[in-house]
Order: sequence, then structure tokens, then C-alpha cells
Amino acid sequence: MIYLDHLASTPLDPLVLEAMLPWMRPEAAGNPHAAHAAGWRAADAIEQAKAEVAALVGAQPGEVVFTSGATEANALALLGGVPPGGGCVVSAVEHASVLGCLPELRRRGHPVAVLAVDGTGRVDPAGLERALAKTAGPALVSVMAANNEVGTVQPLAELAAVAARHGAHMHSDAVQTLGTRALDMAALGLHALSLSGHKLYGPMGIGALIVRQPFRPVPASAGGGQQRGMRAGTLPTPLCVGLGTACRLARERREEDARRIAALRERLWRQLREGLPDIRRNGAAEDGDGLAGCLNVTVPGIDAADRLLDLPDLAVATGSACHSGAGEPSHVLLALGLSPADAHASLRFGLGRGTTAAEVDAAAERLVGLLTP
Ligand code: PLP
Repeated sequence: MIYLDHLASTPLDPLVLEAMLPWMRPEAAGNPHAAHAAGWRAADAIEQAKAEVAALVGAQPGEVVFTSGATEANALALLGGVPPGGGCVVSAVEHASVLGCLPELRRRGHPVAVLAVDGTGRVDPAGLERALAKTAGPALVSVMAANNEVGTVQPLAELAAVAARHGAHMHSDAVQTLGTRALDMAALGLHALSLSGHKLYGPMGIGALIVRQPFRPVPASAGGGQQRGMRAGTLPTPLCVGLGTACRLARERREEDARRIAALRERLWRQLREGLPDIRRNGAAEDGDGLAGCLNVTVPGIDAADRLLDLPDLAVATGSACHSGAGEPSHVLLALGLSPADAHASLRFGLGRGTTAAEVDAAAERLVGLLTP
């Protein structure tokens, strides 16, 4: 299998697995919230993991709230974090886990604004300025750090500055950026940030919402008061340790990974462009400003999902939201101005830490062979 779908999920790093295994063994039993030595040992390991997560994003360990993943983190930020009587502003290219909160916010009577993006998928800070000027009262702004389909990196510092001028809180879904780009919440002035283990070579089933004062979302669950009451429930020690290790590795490797992976992405693009003259690149421009591992292309006239059935040993995503079973064109590509037909003719390559030049060459050769009339 040539695995070029790292934006959907990254393989577990062997060092992460190694760190998790001792905490999965019977002798590591112990509720990390229990008041005895076995519990304290687990609690210590979780504290260390929190410190690693916080260090990756320029936050404090006490600001980390573990969740089951970024979907839950986004829901906690939006459904729990829009101020009473306040509004919510998001971009049109947010992940479904953010956009999916909007109907409930509207139902609760919060005004919601969805910011358009330009042809590359970028949010214009002036658009946020206009939206916040129209929003009466306090507001929550949520704009992702980088897009998971087209790799466009948002101008977070400028957006956060606009939010701050209007006294709004700023949340960012940073799921896709943390493996290859530095991000400092304190320097950016972000109040909340979502991340996910399985996009960072960590385990599935864990993520975090980083919550900085004075932002304090209303919890979605009630119970034992764990995690400062923001997310009740016993913490899964092995998953927390895995996420912490993944965050430490990301900090150590992100520069080198970004350089190597972006070079492979350009190698793939060159070969596809040579073999398929009609091909177009979507999202981030060719100046290398996009997410290192993301290449989104349209090959006009093809039905990408259908054609990929002929390459079962190549894992690549398409511009159709097939996970819903509906085969709808991607809302992100439509927001960039693509037609539904071109969205269905689009492919997303997600390169990662383990991707090799040989894999990139083989993927390009097979695709060009398949799609050349
Ligand atoms: N946000 C973005 C940008 C994503 O790419 C994803 C996963 O595809 C999510 C959120 C959801 O993350 P999780 O699978 O941890 O719930």
C-alpha cells in the first residue's frame, strides 16, 4: 500500500507505541484520579503528557483539557464557548465538526456569520472585521490554522488581532498544522485551540482543547469534576501518554519533517503536471506557502472516486465527501469557487513523515498511467 492519506490519519510513530505499551499492561492498573500510589503514578504520567502538549502550542500544562479527539474539542469550544447572548464567526472552509455546531448555535438564538474565502481558501481579515462590526455583544471567532483539504494556512495572527480589537475570543482548529509548523498560542493571542492525536503520529481516540483565560467553555458532560470540571470522565492514561509523546516528537522533528515532506510534495506535483497537462492545483499557491504534506489537484473530466477504485493499493482522498455516503462535492472546494464537477474530479494527497521519494514516484506513475486517455 502506498499511503498518501496522512491528512486523514497518520500512522502511529513506533516511539509513541513504545511509550504507551507499559500503560496498557495489567500491572499499570490505576485510576489516575484515585488517591493511592497506583493512581498517583498514572496521574504523574498524565501531568507529564500535559506539559508536552502545552509546550507544542505555547500554552501552560494547566490549560490542557484532554478530549476524545478534535471533533469533541471543537464542539466543546463552539457549543460551550459562545458567550451568552453573543455571536459566532467561522470561515466557510472549517471542518465539518465546526460547521456542524452552527445549526445548534442558531437554534439557541446566537447570530452566526460564515466568512467567505478567496480562490486559495484564505480568510480575509477585513472580512472578519466587517462581520464583528455587525455582531452586537461578545463573540467567539473560530478559524482553522490550516485547511485539511487544500492545505491553505490562515493568517491567524492578523485574525486574532482583529478579534482582540473587538473583544472577541478566538479559537483555532490547529489539527493539521502542528506536525510541520510552529504555533504559539500566547504569542498569537489565541484563547482556545483544538488538536488531535491521530493527525500527529499519536493514537486515535484522543485530542485536546487548550483553554486560556478568560475563555472557559460550559462543559458538555457532568460527573466527577475531572479536568477542572470542563470535561468529566476518567482520563485514559495510555492515550494521554501517547499524545504527549507525539507532541514532543512533533516539536523535535517538525522543521526537518516540513522541509523533507514539502520537497516530496513538489516532486509529486512536478510529475503529475508533466504527465497530465490539464491538471490544476487547488488551494495554496506553488510558492510553498501551504501545508507541507498537502497537494490537492483537479484533473478535469474524471470521476476521482470512481477512478481510484482501479488503484486499490494507493490510499489517496478525493474531493467528494464519501464518508457521509452521499458523495457530495467537498464544501471546501466549492467555497474556493470550483464547480461540483471539478470537485468530484479532485484528489487530495497527504504526504507524511514516513513517505519516501520511491512512493511518490510510483504513485505519480500509476495515476498518470490510469488517467492518460
Ligand atoms: N479538524 C480538522 C481540520 C480535521 O482534519 C479533522 C479530521 O479529519 C478533525 C477536525 C476531526 O478530528 P478527530 O478525528 O480527532 O475528531
